[in-house]
Amino acid sequence: MSIITNKSYKGLTITDAEALLKQYGPNARKPGKQKTWLKRIWGIAGEPMMLLLLATAIIYYFLGDKLETIILLFSIIPIMLMEFFQETKTDEAIKILDKMITEYCMVIRMGKNQKLEAKYLVPGDLIYVTAGDKISADGYILNSYGLSIDESILTGESITVIKGAIKDGVELKEENQVYQGTMVTQGEGYIVVEKTGDNTKYGQLGTLLEKIESIKTPLQQKIHNLVQMVAVGAIIIAAFVALIITISNGWAKGLLSGLTMAMSLIPEEFPVVFSVFLIMGVWRMTKQKTLIREMAMVELLGSATVICTDKTGTLTEGKMTLEKIFFHEEVLNLEEVKKHQKNFTELLTTSLLSLEQIAIDPIEIEAQRFAKELGIDVDKFYEEHTLEEDSPFSSDSKTVSHIWKNNKEEYFQYTAGAPESILKYSKLNNQKKTEIEKVLEENFDKGYRVIGIANKKTQRGDKINLNNLNFIGFLIMSDPPRSGVKEAIELCQKAGIRIIMITGDNKLTAHNIAEQIGMKHNEEIYDGTELSKLDPDALLFEVTHHDIFARVQPEQKYLIVESLQKHGEIVAMTGDGVNDAPALKKANIGISMGIRGTEVARAASGMVLMDDNFATIVGAVKEGRRIYDNLRQSFTFLFSFHIPIVGLAILPLFLNQNLIFTPIHIIFLELICDPASVLGFEREKARHNLMHEPPRPTKEPLINPRLWLKIILQGLGITAVSFAFYYHFAITHGNAELGRTVAFGSLVISQIFLILISREWEQVIANRLLLLISGLVILFLGLIIYLPALHPVFKLTSLNLKQSLYMIVWPLIMVLAIKLILKIK
Ligand code: ADP
Ligand code: MG
Repeated sequence: MSIITNKSYKGLTITDAEALLKQYGPNARKPGKQKTWLKRIWGIAGEPMMLLLLATAIIYYFLGDKLETIILLFSIIPIMLMEFFQETKTDEAIKILDKMITEYCMVIRMGKNQKLEAKYLVPGDLIYVTAGDKISADGYILNSYGLSIDESILTGESITVIKGAIKDGVELKEENQVYQGTMVTQGEGYIVVEKTGDNTKYGQLGTLLEKIESIKTPLQQKIHNLVQMVAVGAIIIAAFVALIITISNGWAKGLLSGLTMAMSLIPEEFPVVFSVFLIMGVWRMTKQKTLIREMAMVELLGSATVICTDKTGTLTEGKMTLEKIFFHEEVLNLEEVKKHQKNFTELLTTSLLSLEQIAIDPIEIEAQRFAKELGIDVDKFYEEHTLEEDSPFSSDSKTVSHIWKNNKEEYFQYTAGAPESILKYSKLNNQKKTEIEKVLEENFDKGYRVIGIANKKTQRGDKINLNNLNFIGFLIMSDPPRSGVKEAIELCQKAGIRIIMITGDNKLTAHNIAEQIGMKHNEEIYDGTELSKLDPDALLFEVTHHDIFARVQPEQKYLIVESLQKHGEIVAMTGDGVNDAPALKKANIGISMGIRGTEVARAASGMVLMDDNFATIVGAVKEGRRIYDNLRQSFTFLFSFHIPIVGLAILPLFLNQNLIFTPIHIIFLELICDPASVLGFEREKARHNLMHEPPRPTKEPLINPRLWLKIILQGLGITAVSFAFYYHFAITHGNAELGRTVAFGSLVISQIFLILISREWEQVIANRLLLLISGLVILFLGLIIYLPALHPVFKLTSLNLKQSLYMIVWPLIMVLAIKLILKIK
């Protein structure tokens, strides 16, 4: 494809674009190879539990116990299915997440600009990029207005490089070239696409475009280490037991005992449970419009103590509606404006030339809409002007400027932005300024968002500068609070989470919105200028009791986060612009915007709000709390479950007895435990008062002392009941089969009681999966105890009524007693 140097290139035609798409294929990475079934099964078979099972089955085979071999091999099936199901679910979740990350870009085809999914880009396409955008394909710059690009994704160096447009007749140079995946940090420009998909520099690297970071969360790492330690201990104990029993009873018995021991002791579910909780959590959050980019966010969300939020678009709708204008020293409503259209075209045309031609921001969209309503042909109007200089909206000066040449070869600079800035840079005298400020205040007080408009005459070749502007007027727009935000604020405040509003808007506008949404706030409001005068210690003090910060510069967000963190707060911070990136990185939970946000902000954040809505943050916090809470329940259950298994495996050794259980029993127990803990507790609804509790301290361990007490009481209680039965029937009365049956039965029944009784009643009845698991377990237990045909398999025997009652009533008494003890304490 030949290089396009014609500066007024208007993009491809639709038909060309379609043909090129067929020729070059979509601008996307070819999907990676899917894991085959065989590979998956192989992966699962390599897990410790499976290996133990297989080893045991083989030993039984050589001992001639064909029945045991067959049962063990069959029991592999449900376990495999479970794992398979789990893996598929996880993969599904990841796939859905991948899909959510659709990239869009502004493409110009036949002179018309449109938002296009980046995967439809083709070589030859003309795209428009502005500060904060990610570049979607490789290409070269046709027109540049101060483009600076962060290429760290390719080079690893985080310095931005300044790039310029190609010149006619000069060869394409590196400085004219831009690459897929890099980000625009400053300026704006037009790019011609050269390479797409796998042909781009980034594509050649073969890295995945954007993926949830799969680094282990801090807690996950801890659990991983713990489990590894325990596993090593377990193997040592198992080997020891195998050795001792081999000496007294021969190698076959010895090996079997060792394997049984290892099965009972290795806590392999723990890390599995944890990662399933995380990935399912991430997936559920996606359905609630929250995209998690870093797994650790799931853990942190539940501990958030402060949410620092934007106003525009997050607390408010972010849809601007022009309500009034201020022009020639008069505030007029739109009815009056429409009546005398002619008198107002100057204000509107000045607005059009000040704001961006490619309307993305709601302010720009509304200005163009109204100009059209007044009968201005916006497209034609822009065509009569040539853009000479451009500086996009800067949240520091809070202005946007353009220099245009009109068809009379005259040059003008047009500037729009925060009214205070426009007044400051205008050449109005102080008396006029004070008069106009009064008008402004009245409007800010009502919550309006005001945009000031100005211009000045310049000469050819002049650069944009902000002095001596002619003040033209104001566009006065409304942006009401979003529905649902008020409730979300209330919920936050109940949950002990402080809300801080940080906005680029005016104090009074911010205050009005805070009142409307019922946000608790200090009446004294700081603005950016006042903030910049505070020294760090003063700021450290002020952040403890000020809740609204207005006309803030993005850099100040960083300082606010830092000060809050020094007080030990866990800070969630929203941001959308390029300059918000440092604050987003600094915050414990950096939150960027899916609709409004820039790619630069997104890359710096741990999570993305797909609907930009404040209420969604609160939903995510709640979800974070729920996940953590259920994780606790699940781990409490797992620990309580493992103590008796370990206890009953070890206790007989001290009494010089044979092992009570065989691998088959252990497998049976695992088959209750795994689905219950992994999938059952994960779907648990939030406890009803979860959002009435203060945030969980981050230093608090997953299992706090109170939970340890619960675990130890439950675990030892169940062990005691079960072992007492065994002792009574097997040792005192010499009936090993009977002892095993009652011990095993009571163990299983205790677990069911644990699942059912240890939670809130509403949770129990809402969780059908856990009820189903419990029902199935009881059914199976009944079958293996009362069906004599199955006795040889499980080495059990039938119970009479009295024994059966013992087996049910004692665990119940134990579990209830423990619940009572824990209530009293
Ligand atoms: P917020 O934190 O409320 O999003 P911003 O920093 O985006 O505030 O905007 C600050 C002020 O700058 C606004 O009150 C408005 O007057 C002006 N402004 C915002 N966006 C634009 C824009 N795209 N073009 C011109 N002026 C803007
Ligand atoms: Mg904004």
